[in-house]
Amino acid sequence: MTRSSAFPVATLTQGSSGLQLEAVALADIAARFGTPTYVYSRAALEMAWQNWAKALVGRDTLVCYAVKANSNLGILNVFARLGAGFDIVSGGELSRVLAAGGAADKVVFSGVGKSRAEMQQALRAGVRCFNLESPAELDRIESVAAEIGVRAPIAFRVNPDVDPKTHPYISTGLRDNKFGVAFDEALALYRKAAASRHVKISGIACHIGSQLLDPAPMAEAAAKIRGLVEKLESEGITLEHIDLGGGLGIRYDDEQPPGMSDYTAPLLAAMEGRKEQLCFEPGRSLVGNAGLLLTQVEYLKHSPTKNFAIVDAAMNDLARPALYNAYHEMVAVKPGTATAQSYEIVGPICESGDFLGHDRQLALAEGDLIAILSAGAYGMAMSSNYNTRGRCAEVMVDGDKMHLVRQRESIESLYALESVLP
Ligand SMILES: *Cc1c(COP(=O)(O)O)cnc(C)c1O
Repeated sequence: MTRSSAFPVATLTQGSSGLQLEAVALADIAARFGTPTYVYSRAALEMAWQNWAKALVGRDTLVCYAVKANSNLGILNVFARLGAGFDIVSGGELSRVLAAGGAADKVVFSGVGKSRAEMQQALRAGVRCFNLESPAELDRIESVAAEIGVRAPIAFRVNPDVDPKTHPYISTGLRDNKFGVAFDEALALYRKAAASRHVKISGIACHIGSQLLDPAPMAEAAAKIRGLVEKLESEGITLEHIDLGGGLGIRYDDEQPPGMSDYTAPLLAAMEGRKEQLCFEPGRSLVGNAGLLLTQVEYLKHSPTKNFAIVDAAMNDLARPALYNAYHEMVAVKPGTATAQSYEIVGPICESGDFLGHDRQLALAEGDLIAILSAGAYGMAMSSNYNTRGRCAEVMVDGDKMHLVRQRESIESLYALESVLP
């Protein structure tokens, strides 16, 4: 394995008191806020944003951060200040975006199961576009818009039927999955929408999957989408924007994700000469490597064949290893005096699937801190209270300051909504 020696988290360095994010020692964060704690770097978030902005300069574009990757208000607010749009998949995410200072008219609403209440909320808020994923959703948005007396801005999420070559759970653009409308069905749906008094055709969208490491499938999808846009145009159906979705991968281990412009250049080329605004919906590539999960070793345990480090973070805090067998790099926060050996890094949950990493060469002692890297995306956002564990605190580092952007959940809060029989 040709593991790069640089941390995938850009603003993480080895300082005199161990690992530090920007100018804050991780040990100080643990001392002040406890563990397990998610820690984000504002500078890393802004660098990831600027990477996107630089790659798209000179073209009319809108980058809509995919809120589901990490929906903490502090993170949303950093992106809102940078002028981001937002890609949401629920009414709850819309409320978060507005609470964090995001602009409704830069919000695109994705997802296969939008409820009437969510459509009403989003129409009243004035979102920029509903990305519809089925004929039934068109019927429903027409009826909700008619009720409110507005025209709903819509796009269809078209399924370009390309193989993104990623994990099957996060591949979404193939013909037989639940997302989007079939390519061959799209034309008829646009004709129907064009004849409706209650919707206004605003664009077209596609999103083929997540953690894409090869730019070719997305470029192929863009070419197919362009073909459809031109077909629509020939029928007098014009669009304001073309949304090419999210999905750009990041480095967790030894992956070689495309450089930013290696990813965007073929997409811009596929749309050369088109006047529509180009939208993107990146999630992971904006936040994944701007965050880490800080955890402490509770116990070391040695079986005849394996060494276990039982840490205070678990699959409820970071589900990706248990869910996708995903790899997260782990680094001891302070170099220890113990000798490095191979450890299974596991949590306290009563499931054999509760592991965070296999076969990690680490020098560990009880009480040591470990930074689990590349945990900014689909980390906290997918966490749960399984085993009645309060979810992590979240801290954002900004230069030499640390800001608590979410308190650790108290145990009482976990059952505050429950009651016993009278
Ligand atoms: C999940 C999702 C995204 C973001 O994907 P990333 O891989 O995190 O960039 C964008 N658009 C839609 C419709 C999604 O479902």
